[in-house]
Amino acid sequence: MERKRKMTFMCINHDVPHEMIIRGGQSVFYACPKFDDDNLESGERKCLNRMTFIDAGGIIDKFAEIEDSIDPLEGTEDLTGYEFGYKGLKSRFKVIILKINDDEVRFGIKNLTALHQ
Ligand SMILES: [Zn+2]
Repeated sequence: MERKRKMTFMCINHDVPHEMIIRGGQSVFYACPKFDDDNLESGERKCLNRMTFIDAGGIIDKFAEIEDSIDPLEGTEDLTGYEFGYKGLKSRFKVIILKINDDEVRFGIKNLTALHQ
């Protein structure tokens, strides 16, 4: 079944997740708003969490496989809080499903490679 849901990516390298924003440059990618000095409160440290569009697509595909693998006879399983790993071309990610409903899937993203974790 084709699903048309909004996909949101949140940086979970903080106590309160921040929605990642699309940045331009030599290539386009998602980054934490706390990468920009302009968005930092005094004393706050720059956040290097980021994700390429290719990795974002890979994470969406992997989660779709996870959803499809759930036995439909077991009914609707709530995947809120579900956690999985994803290995991209250059980075490893920790992914947590922060919110899921018919309209939206909200992914919590941590690029372990970029954050040296
Ligand atoms: Zn961040």
